Amino acid sequence: MSITDNIKRLKKEIETINVKLIAVSKTKPVEDVQEAYDAGQRIFGENQVQEMAEKAEKLPADIQWHLIGHLQTNKVKYIAAFVSLIHSVDSIKLLKEINKQAQKNDRIIDCLLQIYIADEETKFGLGFDEAIELLRSDDFQELKNVRIVGVMGIATNTENEKQVKEEFYELKTFFDGLKLSFFRKEDSFKEVSMGMSSDYNTAIEQGSTMVRIGSDIFGKRVIKHFKNTEEPND
Ligand SMILES: *Cc1c(COP(=O)(O)O)cnc(C)c1O
Repeated sequence: MSITDNIKRLKKEIETINVKLIAVSKTKPVEDVQEAYDAGQRIFGENQVQEMAEKAEKLPADIQWHLIGHLQTNKVKYIAAFVSLIHSVDSIKLLKEINKQAQKNDRIIDCLLQIYIADEETKFGLGFDEAIELLRSDDFQELKNVRIVGVMGIATNTENEKQVKEEFYELKTFFDGLKLSFFRKEDSFKEVSMGMSSDYNTAIEQGSTMVRIGSDIFGKRVIKHFKNTEEPND
């Protein structure tokens, strides 16, 4: 199947039930992104700052760029002007820097709190208690140029469907609790980013509002370098 066919099929399958499709184009050339764009896709996810900035420069301006990978504070400045959603906020320090750079660009940047749900040592994210602590902190109350619009999680990379299902269930339940405790009056707090090529059906079943799909659209990635068995990252 071509990229065009994959986008059309997935858009039909996913967007008709009101779940957003994030096309994860990391490691893929600009031409592939353009093909997906021409097939109607407008939201793309990248996990490296430099790669995202380079692609954004070369591709149509109405693309919504989502940063889905671990973000270092010293790199926020390279994406602050154009990033549409940051999925990977995992500390108050990072959030403060995003706020600072958003302010410089005279905008508000939407963010998701990345929550640790996997049974793996190498995944980034906040624990449930850490996320609550962040939202309760005085530091957080002062940030006017960031808006938390939901949560993101990566399930364990396992064939065990029951486990993956439970992890997604936990994230959705946690999201519901946060909504009640902290965002009751904010309609914008509504996103649960969970599900990738291997597990997006399970994620949608468990209440995902945005799925991040790479290889099912663009084909397998050639991994260029490793860091603790993580995929390429900044
Ligand atoms: C690479 C990546 C994806 C997409 O993975 P696929 O298995 O190719 O669909 C989704 N989310 C994150 C955070 C990623 O880094």
